[in-house]
Amino acid sequence: MARIVMKFGGTSVADLDRIHNVARHVKREVDAGNQVAVVVSAMAGKTNELVGWVQAMPKVAGAKASFYDAREYDAIVASGEQVTSGLLAIALQSMGVDARSWQGWQIPVKTDNAHGAARILDIDGSELIRRFEMGQVAVVAGFQGVGPDNRLATLGRGGSDTSAVAIAAAVKADRCDIYTDVDGVYTTDPRMVPKARRMKKIAFEEMLEMASLGAKVLQVRSVELAMVHKVRTFVRSSFDDPDAPEMSDQLNPPGTLICDEEEIVEQEVVTGIAYAKDEAQISLRRLADRPGVSAAIFGPLADSHINVDMIVQNISEDGSRTDMTFTVPSGDADKALEVLAGEKDVIGYDVVQSESGLAKISVIGIGMRSHAGVAATAFKALAEKSINIKAITTSEIKISILIDGAYAELAVRTLHSVYGLDKT
Ligand code: ASP
Ligand code: MG
Repeated sequence: MARIVMKFGGTSVADLDRIHNVARHVKREVDAGNQVAVVVSAMAGKTNELVGWVQAMPKVAGAKASFYDAREYDAIVASGEQVTSGLLAIALQSMGVDARSWQGWQIPVKTDNAHGAARILDIDGSELIRRFEMGQVAVVAGFQGVGPDNRLATLGRGGSDTSAVAIAAAVKADRCDIYTDVDGVYTTDPRMVPKARRMKKIAFEEMLEMASLGAKVLQVRSVELAMVHKVRTFVRSSFDDPDAPEMSDQLNPPGTLICDEEEIVEQEVVTGIAYAKDEAQISLRRLADRPGVSAAIFGPLADSHINVDMIVQNISEDGSRTDMTFTVPSGDADKALEVLAGEKDVIGYDVVQSESGLAKISVIGIGMRSHAGVAATAFKALAEKSINIKAITTSEIKISILIDGAYAELAVRTLHSVYGLDKT
């Protein structure tokens, strides 16, 4: 017997038929003797519709441009999950499963006061655990909690993944199963590389890199939380037949387990290739080489909420001038240039150069920590395809390479194959 939190996303509960299908997945786990809590999202598209309604409301007289009361926003957009939790509880009851729905405030899921993008501070799992022991299934509305002001708070878009992982941590679940519209995590985007393989296991740190770089399987924050609390998180498909024999395999069901690296026996050197298209590069030429220059550049960019990524500064030749290059998403490039122009006197650079339409390709793997030559392999493989490298950054478990966007696909395929990730 295991204690499992099962999370179903918007496409999995998009209509009543799918909600019944979800109920069959839940019943299967209950029938296998497991203790089960379920976390649901709103029906696909529902949250967008609710957000649209809020945005269409008249502004408070005298309020700033797009200002509306964030607490009322939360009251409205949290309602989608209230509906699906109740519907799923009814579907389960109709199958003879003892189930009841729970809203965030009833548990309670306590959050901070950042309405619209709140963080979970604490979850009291004791009542859920008591109900497990009575054989009851809890169906919990994801994406929501209650703030210190005792009002509803939502966790930011995609937040029900985070709800599920947090609840799994609070009840000390053996596993948090994330049921979604893909059947696991792949070595790279399978739409781009048909030879991509589904991984059996991936370490938390690696998944964090994959998720931050655009593998949109899980909300990044939920992976961070899983890593901190060591919640074994299993990504699997809700569209698989709930009663297929392999689905009842308690030890090795189809999907990808995100877990501690200790649990991964056959650790590969490289586990995945991620990419981000639509990157822009900005270079500041001939900056003064003195304390405070970086702060003068990146402080104002951060204040303008521009997400800066690869940062490369060279060591100056004569101790007086240096160059600084960094990347931002293409959509932020104009804004970044504007900010830099405004700060020119403070920063003290000669010229700014920029280029958009670039791609950042990243090679990810924990095994890099203990293997030499991983980066050299990538550079050689790209050279053989005549792909020019514009900038390189590395961390302990990642190599990121900036190239011309037109070569993104070729680079991803090449690296995927050179590290032996292709499906045979
Ligand atoms: N329904 C919320 C959203 O669309 C939360 C979620 O689905 O994770 O953002
Ligand atoms: Mg989601």
